[in-house]
Amino acid sequence: MKLIIGSHVSFKKDTGLVGAVQEILSYGGNAFMFYTGAPQNTIRSEISKTNTLEAHNLMKENNIDINNVVVHAPYIINLANKKVKRNYNFSISFLTSEIKRCVELGVKKIILHPGSSVGISKEEGINNIIEALNIILANDHDVMILLETMAGKGNEIGGNFTDIKTIIDGICNKDKIGVCLDTCHINDSGYDVTKIDEVIEEFDKIVGLNYLQCLHINDSNNEIGVKKDRHANIGYGTIGFENLLKIIYHKAFANIPKILETPYVTINNEEKKRIFPPYKTEIEMIKSKQFNSNLIDDIRSYYK
Ligand code: FE
Ligand code: FE
Ligand code: ZN
Repeated sequence: MKLIIGSHVSFKKDTGLVGAVQEILSYGGNAFMFYTGAPQNTIRSEISKTNTLEAHNLMKENNIDINNVVVHAPYIINLANKKVKRNYNFSISFLTSEIKRCVELGVKKIILHPGSSVGISKEEGINNIIEALNIILANDHDVMILLETMAGKGNEIGGNFTDIKTIIDGICNKDKIGVCLDTCHINDSGYDVTKIDEVIEEFDKIVGLNYLQCLHINDSNNEIGVKKDRHANIGYGTIGFENLLKIIYHKAFANIPKILETPYVTINNEEKKRIFPPYKTEIEMIKSKQFNSNLIDDIRSYYK
């Protein structure tokens, strides 16, 4: 059984999906995630059909299964709050257009932060999310929305498995809803991921393992339960390398993509401050099961 591992990659206007595939190949990964544009805004460019076709050929040549490719919806989308009707409607229509882009790209899964219920009760927020998702999922497409488990900071919905379960319960078309579990987020929200079998058992009991479609593999800068959300490089946080390996190689997760979203590494070179992706080194660490305590030196040698 081949390990399904990858990372976040960029999707640029000029290189599109081909660029994203090339980037993950350069890291040695076989799964990837990207935003269709900047995550903090809604400026999106036309998707090139020839580029997309070329990308799919490149994926086939390199044994990348399209089911291991996911899009992440921009985090400005908030389906929980209906107070400003215009913003709510915009979130619905923007997520609908993101799904249309997924269809054009041939991508079958899109990850969504459930939302934030500022100024309203959590129950009301969850109801707003359900209503919006049912509108979006009523359209005829085969893209699945994956609700991401959150750290639970502020009024974030999805900081525990029960929130996720309550949303799924309200969805009419359950074939089109799934979950993405983020190791940093659930650590920060209060689940002890160092006891992964217990976490899996609880997730299965509350939500159902059949809904789990993706894992975000991140170490955390924070102690368990602080409701923060700050990702750390693999083995450089409070979860630790061995515990993350146990999760990555767990048989319950064998068939789903595992995506790194660890922070870029800052290197000061000749008075110039530059940032570099850690993913090639981290994927090597994961494949070899060898912790690399010289992440920065290694990255420096790759990108010099
Ligand atoms: Fe996310
Ligand atoms: Fe995440
Ligand atoms: Zn996060």
